[in-house]
Amino acid sequence: MNVASSINSERKKSCINCGAELTYEPGTDLITCDYCGHKEVIEQSDQPFQELELNKYMEQMGAQSHSMEITMLHCDNCGANQHVEESYKSLHCVYCTMPLIIEEAYKDDWILPGAVVPFDFKSDKAHQIFKKWVSGLWWAPNNLQKASLSPENTKGLYVPYWTFDAELDAQYEGERGEYYYVTVTRGSGKNKRTTQERRTRWYDASGEISGFVDDTLVKASQQKGGQIPSQIASWNLDHLKTFDTRFLAGYVTEKYTIPLKDGHLDAKEKAKEIAANWARRDIGGDTQRIHRLEMQLSDQTFKHILLPVYISSYKFNGKRYNFYVNGQTGVIHGTRPYSFWKIFLAILAALIVIGGIVYFINTQQ
Ligand SMILES: [Zn+2]
Ligand SMILES: [Zn+2]
Repeated sequence: MNVASSINSERKKSCINCGAELTYEPGTDLITCDYCGHKEVIEQSDQPFQELELNKYMEQMGAQSHSMEITMLHCDNCGANQHVEESYKSLHCVYCTMPLIIEEAYKDDWILPGAVVPFDFKSDKAHQIFKKWVSGLWWAPNNLQKASLSPENTKGLYVPYWTFDAELDAQYEGERGEYYYVTVTRGSGKNKRTTQERRTRWYDASGEISGFVDDTLVKASQQKGGQIPSQIASWNLDHLKTFDTRFLAGYVTEKYTIPLKDGHLDAKEKAKEIAANWARRDIGGDTQRIHRLEMQLSDQTFKHILLPVYISSYKFNGKRYNFYVNGQTGVIHGTRPYSFWKIFLAILAALIVIGGIVYFINTQQ
């Protein structure tokens, strides 16, 4: 199946009524016209996502099968490659806010995404989440709430990931540990004490395990500047939709900077951890040792997928702080200022309490 070669991601997404630009409506299967309200449905096919055969693909890398051409803008400052699916309004790097130059846009190939988790809510909800987050921060300066409530440069960004599926088989040799307890007597005379101590008895164990490893998620981008914090980097992949460039309309999309080959090495490491866990479960007992683990992966497939994140920043006392909101789950993480005086006074109060206790104890003796 070669669906990709004919797809042009920059197919014009304009309104049939008024010609204005259509943008994806978060939480729906629609692209809508902000100007006249016209809506179009993004039809989803009933077909399962197209998983690409890994080995075949790696061998034919040069052929760029399932690739398509998109217009990219490169950020010289942080190295991010971004594609803006809208007529260019403000052109700033989504990570580091450095201005990007339209004249330097270039055509680039990328492996066609197989699936996308579309944005579930609009940027104004991301701002509400942000406000709630700010008001719940401990040790924050008093005027932070007033000062920080107009976030700047909010961008919806589709972040690239690789996912891998594989059939895993492994042979292991190790030991099963079973706990038992002994009574130990230490000291003598008045200081004689008996305690229960745990010991482990080891038995040889070996065997074979197998199973299907589904949707191992590996990040596909890495910048010098902003990274998507791991605290928000968790999505429900049950909500993946078949890729359609219309889901990108109105958003920024980042191209992977970690090649498939390197992503696959990460996935293999994760598969090894899974195999070790399966082996431990297979060995059983109270504790386990693994001396040898040989893993084979077969029927390996992969997908390039896009996942939604809002990136934004706010200013406080002349300094810029970034925050990130998961565009599906609403989980937020960001950098923030601390109030020196609040922390100072809290420590002082704690010291006074401790001092009081020490004084009290001393006067009792
Ligand atoms: Zn319209
Ligand atoms: Zn940048």
